[in-house]
Amino acid sequence: MRYLILFALLYLLYYLFKKSFFPSGRRERVLKRYQGGSADKELVQDPQCHTYIPKEGALRAQINGEVYYFCSQKCLEEFKKRS
Ligand SMILES: [Zn+2]
Repeated sequence: MRYLILFALLYLLYYLFKKSFFPSGRRERVLKRYQGGSADKELVQDPQCHTYIPKEGALRAQINGEVYYFCSQKCLEEFKKRS
């Protein structure tokens, strides 16, 4: 049990450390740089599980007039159910 608390503390420290070095805004800019100019290497975010996936490999769906990209059929169905 003591080890579990220690582990949680270490994880928290690691999380804070990581967060201070990579604030979300900066991470996004880095991500955009990796996307490059090529359209098929563009990354899109799955609105269901928030995973970034390459546009070419993503499942495209139009829901309520908006285009969304999903990593899997499961995410698509879940998102459709939610909206
Ligand atoms: Zn997903």
